[in-house]
Amino acid sequence: MRSTEIKPEMDGERVIIAGWVHEVRDLGGLVFIVIRDRDGFIQITLPKKTVNLEMFKKAKKISRESVIKVEGIVKREDKAPNGFEIIPDIFEILSESHSPLPLEVTEKVPADLETRLDNRFMDLRRPKVSSIFRIKSQISKSIRDFLSNRGFIEVHTPKIVSTATEGGTELFPISYFEREAFLNQSPQLYKQILMSAGLEKVFEIGPIFRAEEHNTTRHLNEATSVDIEMSFVDHEGVMEILEEMVKKVYGNVIEKCEKQLKTLEIELEVPKTPFKRITYTEAIKILENKIPWGEDLDLQALKTIGNEIGGFYFITEWPTKIKPFYVMPFEDDRICKSFDLMYGYIEIASGAQREHRYEKLLENIKRRNLYPESFEFYLKAFRYGIPPHAGWGLGLERLIMAMLGLSNIREAMLFPRDRTRLVP
Ligand code: ATP
Ligand code: MG
Repeated sequence: MRSTEIKPEMDGERVIIAGWVHEVRDLGGLVFIVIRDRDGFIQITLPKKTVNLEMFKKAKKISRESVIKVEGIVKREDKAPNGFEIIPDIFEILSESHSPLPLEVTEKVPADLETRLDNRFMDLRRPKVSSIFRIKSQISKSIRDFLSNRGFIEVHTPKIVSTATEGGTELFPISYFEREAFLNQSPQLYKQILMSAGLEKVFEIGPIFRAEEHNTTRHLNEATSVDIEMSFVDHEGVMEILEEMVKKVYGNVIEKCEKQLKTLEIELEVPKTPFKRITYTEAIKILENKIPWGEDLDLQALKTIGNEIGGFYFITEWPTKIKPFYVMPFEDDRICKSFDLMYGYIEIASGAQREHRYEKLLENIKRRNLYPESFEFYLKAFRYGIPPHAGWGLGLERLIMAMLGLSNIREAMLFPRDRTRLVP
């Protein structure tokens, strides 16, 4: 049985439980062992006088974090953590733990992030840490449900590709038989091709790879992206989907992850929609023109804007030249139909209405000194009928960071990859 399935009212019943030895308290003639499973803790109690002596000795010298299986009788006990204890008559060691432990599982001893990540299997045994991933699972599920209910179909695009999505340098090259290939930095080009294919509404939740040189608290080299692309809609249409999705995800987490939120000591509120919208030009004004119009907003700038506005908000109408070639400009060519969803100073998502007019797209590619030949597989899909379309990409770990107030994005990834970390 799981720890949460046993109640004090089951006094006298026989149960079998299994889990890790969280704590051993040896009082000489009495041994308490706290067993931890995925859901909680159970105390088992072994009084020397009444239990089998061999079992008593075995329990007395069990090492912490060993995995054991215990069969015994539930006894109501007001002083025990859940109002009951278990008096065992069968005590089986399934896997003995070595000691000393590489990391303390009890929250009493703090450990630095590096040590924790080096021993992630052990770190994840901490209820606070595993709660993050139970919530992450709920978020993925909520996103799938929300988008499926809105008629989106889930797709899987290639992660091994021949060209850079944006022609940037943030790519990991790999050897692909006798050629060079890359790990994909975004499903962008493929999800757009699927608009030409007539799928109309697609989404993907999958890995993206970015060879970011700099170690920051909000960049990973392998992250999870939630991407959508939709036909016959403009940027406003997909912004509405994005904010409604975020709202739904918060609502679901509050409803389904009550226990995990309590463990993390977090009180969540559903953000109100529609989210605030400010244009890039308005953002520059908040900065009192410290950044010249047309330049990208750096971290310091985003912090100033984030402090001013707070919570979730969109920055819209970006200068065309700092956004990728596939974004559609407004009639005034200088600004484009691109938006970023922000939470404070953290960018959560980027999206846009896309340029679907072949000639203009070709021009955009050339203007950025990229080679149309390398994008032929993509451009081809624009020559034979493609609907106007829009979409966005959202960083799943960034959303979790925002929601749970995590100070480092690595906390939201089971096995993070960064500039210096490739194991575990
Ligand atoms: P940033 O400016 O914060 O580096 P970006 O504009 O380069 O992000 P996009 O190409 O717009 O990122 O990717 C879409 C979303 O994917 C981002 O809004 C972000 O949430 C997420 N994302 C991008 N790069 C990373 C990364 N290295 N680590 C974690 N998440 C990322
Ligand atoms: Mg972006």
